[in-house]
Amino acid sequence: MSKPSHTERSSTASSPSWSLDTQAVALGRPPHTAGEPVNEPITLTSTFHAGADLSYARVGNPTWAAFEETVGVLEGGHALAFASGMASISAVLSLVPHGAVVVAPHHAYSGTTGILADLASSGALVVRHVDISDTDEVLAALALEPTADLLIAESPTNPMLEVADLPAIVAAGHDIGALVMVDNTFATPLLQRPLDDGADIVIHSATKYLSGHSDVLLGVAITPDTGAGRALSERLHTHRTSRGAIPGPMEVWLALRGLRTLSVRLERSGANAVALAQRLAEHPAVSRVRYPGWGSIVAIEVAAVGGLTTAQSAEAVCDRTRLWTHSTSLGGVESQIERRRRHTAEVETVPDNLLRLSVGIESVEDLWRDLDSALTGA
Ligand code: PLP
Repeated sequence: MSKPSHTERSSTASSPSWSLDTQAVALGRPPHTAGEPVNEPITLTSTFHAGADLSYARVGNPTWAAFEETVGVLEGGHALAFASGMASISAVLSLVPHGAVVVAPHHAYSGTTGILADLASSGALVVRHVDISDTDEVLAALALEPTADLLIAESPTNPMLEVADLPAIVAAGHDIGALVMVDNTFATPLLQRPLDDGADIVIHSATKYLSGHSDVLLGVAITPDTGAGRALSERLHTHRTSRGAIPGPMEVWLALRGLRTLSVRLERSGANAVALAQRLAEHPAVSRVRYPGWGSIVAIEVAAVGGLTTAQSAEAVCDRTRLWTHSTSLGGVESQIERRRRHTAEVETVPDNLLRLSVGIESVEDLWRDLDSALTGA
């Protein structure tokens, strides 16, 4: 039996024929009834009057339900909000037994590689790292005896922007009975829907594009609307409730507001990214551009200049930008730039002169002028 309906809603006007852009705007709202508010209110309460399914706010909250309904439809499954992206990944890791074999990208987000390294060093997991864009390597790592219990894919990867062949690796994972989780943070459901490719769980750092304004930390995990998917959702829900990996209603409300503009934000930032990637490829201070051709993240490698090391040259670019904010994180309306290897947690195969550019929605000409002068000045 599925969980009681405290995280489900029956209220919102919706039509399956609507595009995802429309669903992002229309879902997760109170019914179109005279006198009802247009937006889901923020429900600030720790408890509920006894006698209904929902009794305590660690189990469910109507504001979460509005967000979960919307993200669930966008990804094509059933969503659960978590305190952060890392909390949703931790919940997924709780699904596999002690000693499980996990196949994961070399270049996943450093928090993901970090938690996997911790669990491997304590013997809780065996981790096999792969180039997630090398399908043969992924298939070999899955099939090696003992075969894998969990495949973690990130596509595109953070920060190297490698792209996985999701249908092929999901199918190979299922052939050997592994669960497959895809971190869809960089793509968002408007550009890629891994549940349609057969993935068992999609997670997001909703901190990034889903909320979109760099003012929230939030995670979400989405599972398919199938018997197996609902069973996974129930286990994730139990984990969230018992470990208290829950988001605040304010954060979730802000993320739901951010979701309303996801499609226009992505349209603008994606177009900006395409234009910048083309211009950066011609820039004399740039030795390499990584860009999959879609999405809003571009990574560049900065050439060494004037007696500086490559890393120092890259840092100097970050110090010189005025419009681009020199900060970690990504997916906000404002453009962000960062040398990833400034974090000791970043894996050493990420070049030390690699700058991750999270392209925002500003005027592309202003972004270009600022970046060009920072690159040229450095
Ligand atoms: N997954 C990816 C791809 C990320 O970039 C991040 C954070 O940068 C996370 C997961 C972790 O998310 P959070 O910071 O919301 O815990």
